[in-house]
Amino acid sequence: MNASEFRRRGKEMVDYMADYLEGIEGRQVFPDVCPGYLRSLIPTTAPQEPETFEAIIEDVEKIIMPGVTHWHSPYFFAYFPTASSYPAMLADMLCGAIGCIGFSWAASPACTELETVMMDWLGKMLQLPEAFLAGEAGEGGGVIQGTASEATLVALLAARTKVTRRLQAASPELTQAAIMDKLVAYASDQAHSSVEKAGLIGGVRLKAIPSDGKFAMRASALQEALERDKAAGLIPFFVVATLGTTSCCSFDNLSEVGPICHEEGLWLHVDAAYAGSAFICPEFRHLLNGVEFADSFNFNPHKWLLVNFDCSAMWVKKRTDLTGAFRLDPVYLRHSHQDSGLITDYRHWQLPLGRRFRSLKMWFVFRMYGVKGLQAYIRKHVQLAHAFEALVRQDARFEICAEVTLGLVCFRLKGSNKLNEALLESINSAKKIHLVPCSLRDRFVLRFAICSRTVELAHVQLAWEHIQEMAAAVLRAQGEEKAGKSPCRAEFPPPQREGERTSPVWSGEVEGTYHIGSL
Ligand code: PLP
Repeated sequence: MNASEFRRRGKEMVDYMADYLEGIEGRQVFPDVCPGYLRSLIPTTAPQEPETFEAIIEDVEKIIMPGVTHWHSPYFFAYFPTASSYPAMLADMLCGAIGCIGFSWAASPACTELETVMMDWLGKMLQLPEAFLAGEAGEGGGVIQGTASEATLVALLAARTKVTRRLQAASPELTQAAIMDKLVAYASDQAHSSVEKAGLIGGVRLKAIPSDGKFAMRASALQEALERDKAAGLIPFFVVATLGTTSCCSFDNLSEVGPICHEEGLWLHVDAAYAGSAFICPEFRHLLNGVEFADSFNFNPHKWLLVNFDCSAMWVKKRTDLTGAFRLDPVYLRHSHQDSGLITDYRHWQLPLGRRFRSLKMWFVFRMYGVKGLQAYIRKHVQLAHAFEALVRQDARFEICAEVTLGLVCFRLKGSNKLNEALLESINSAKKIHLVPCSLRDRFVLRFAICSRTVELAHVQLAWEHIQEMAAAVLRAQGEEKAGKSPCRAEFPPPQREGERTSPVWSGEVEGTYHIGSL
């Protein structure tokens, strides 16, 4: 492909992308394919001779799209949102064109410097304490990691190095292995599995602190664990507090946990992967109170701040904690400015060497939406979650299972886990909407997360009506089962096949469409 074909194909591709996103509501949100569906549809080896762009694009619709879960459909309410905006997509195209690998300042100065400034912009949007900002000569600063999982791992490894060096400075006879054997990290029993994974990779024990009735980690439970472990000769060194847990969006009590970490000399990492975006709104900023005690803080603009994946924002108060842990300087990576004290070499702040020019996405999005536009977007999602919560509360067959603070509603039918499993199964096999469950104190719970950039109240209402219908069928089947009849699964709407699909997913007039803003 030469430049002139690229111009032509690029325009076609942008049209294809815009058509896809504009028409996404008409696609079935979850695909009909079975595992292994794709292998038989494509050759077993790469082509020897070049193929045409047309042939590839044709195959995208034929082979790829039937196997896509449409995360940006307004009927997608699973997991947490993943960001999608046109400015971010355009910035990603530019990032691809520049194609630099910005591991050091010299490797592409703009890549490094824009990232530092964007992380300061974002830190100020969140009203992060000054200590986290790079500014002109700050000790802290921000870095874009690929994911929240990487941020937690980077923080844990840096904390491990820091505590090991401190202990060895005091007792030089201590070996690294002897110290590692005693290190303990802590997180609430509601923390994301990536925290446990960081412990596994970092080779340290991770202990789950029992959360309270609101699924929050509290000071007393943490303190109890610390006392017990210290008495047993172990060495607590790292605590992860979660703001906006994955299961139910609960918030660890940072204002309680923070001072303990500070007094005990423990590295406090705050994982706000999903909820962090909401802190740009003054009315949600209080949820971040206590962050002043943290050593590192992370959230994913690629979840809820319209910056497409991947863009996970991590700040540290002391950049030397990272550079001290990860700095290696082979000759081929050195450059003349590296010891000037004026620049950042981000390769020392992360696990890989290579890094893309991801800050372009932030720059485009922040400028084209403005802080006010981003705040309106967050508020709209929170309003929609409360609207769904109100609908659930009006139906006495259902219960709300956790406080609704942001864009996630946890709910279930009053009754057994089996009943709720059947409800979710019927919803997801009908494929009109897509949900995932969670487990809260061994109760099977359905999660309804406001995800799509284009979701409106009408979609939420339709989703709720659909859930009610599915619930009625499940309850009827359960009644019949109890009465000795076999459960009538045929009453559930059968999954739609490709050819039978009506477009949009719900055909007919959508009554009472209510647009909160036009983002
Ligand atoms: N932490 C929390 C609280 C999350 O909800 C998630 C994902 O949803 C993660 C961490 C992992 O995020 P990532 O995919 O960026 O590693």
